[in-house]
Amino acid sequence: KNYDVIVEENRRLYNEVQELKGNIRVYCRIRPFLEGQNKTETSIEYTGENGELVIANPLKQGKDTHRFFKFNKVFGPTSTQEEVFLDTRPLIRSILDGYNVCIFAYGQTGSGKTYTMSGPSTNSEEDWGVNYRALNDLFHLTQSSENTVMYEVGVQMVEIYNEQVRDLLSHDVPDASMHCVKATEDVLELMNIGLTNRAVGATALNEKSSRSHSVLSVHVRGVDVKTDSTLRGSLHLVDLAGSERVDRSEVTGDRLKEAQHINKSLSALGDVIFALAHKNPHVPYRNSKLTQVLQNSLGGQAKTLMFVQINPDEDSYAETVSTLKFAERVSGVELGAARSYK
Ligand code: ADP
Repeated sequence: KNYDVIVEENRRLYNEVQELKGNIRVYCRIRPFLEGQNKTETSIEYTGENGELVIANPLKQGKDTHRFFKFNKVFGPTSTQEEVFLDTRPLIRSILDGYNVCIFAYGQTGSGKTYTMSGPSTNSEEDWGVNYRALNDLFHLTQSSENTVMYEVGVQMVEIYNEQVRDLLSHDVPDASMHCVKATEDVLELMNIGLTNRAVGATALNEKSSRSHSVLSVHVRGVDVKTDSTLRGSLHLVDLAGSERVDRSEVTGDRLKEAQHINKSLSALGDVIFALAHKNPHVPYRNSKLTQVLQNSLGGQAKTLMFVQINPDEDSYAETVSTLKFAERVSGVELGAARSYK
């Protein structure tokens, strides 16, 4: 079959599934090839708006010389932080209409999760990641002078490490502490405290890589002073632990335990989003701490966005395909086995 026929067939399938699915969007972002990386680039072709992506197997062996994927959008290596955030804007607005919004970054260590969510630590506004832009928008909207609605904003930040939830903003409280904030700067200050408290372990791939999930939750309560009605919405910004599969022969002890907990919680997250996307009657929230923490914010009046991050280099091919398969599954776009074409 030629490529066009398969693309057309995939598009039809995609549209069909799109009708069925909930409010789940998956954006793929391809990290640029970093300077000084002495590696070979994998051939990745994509169409940004249509969200189609074809990745060539560098080994060029067997049937799978190419794999085809389809997402809501693909952001290429030259995409800017501003472009990446543009489509997230309407989601942020919907929080004030009473929606719960969850934004995830998924991918192997070093694929750009932190870059997309927080941005590099340059402090330059154009480098700001989704977190800062989202909070900035949110406060801007709550403070707009035409509002007859009075807003209260509270922030929580927890990390989940080895299936244990830990408050990153204060010690000695059984539940996650809630902190009232008035402006983006207040949240940034809390985020810095949280990030400092976050458990960090070293991996061979990236020394600073975190082996825990971090969840920043922003709760908004709006009271309309004219009608005396109250609306509640929330935003969860989730930087997931690296999704790389760990070679059992290489790690033992604590590292192995960490890896097993990460695998378990990421598959539980995948199962929950999959169940929601397919409107399954049973959603298996209880299978991990991550999905328990997010239970009230996934499903129902919730909107979920997942940034799926991939590396462009040849060495990452197997990991990239595994990441894309996960993403394809949660997006509700099941095209069967990732297709090859020739
Ligand atoms: P992760 O959080 O997935 O481990 P990082 O966000 O730390 O990955 O990214 C790994 C490296 O790649 C960092 O040095 C980061 O600055 C760089 N990087 C990631 N994405 C981009 C991008 N879109 N543009 C430029 N550099 C990037």
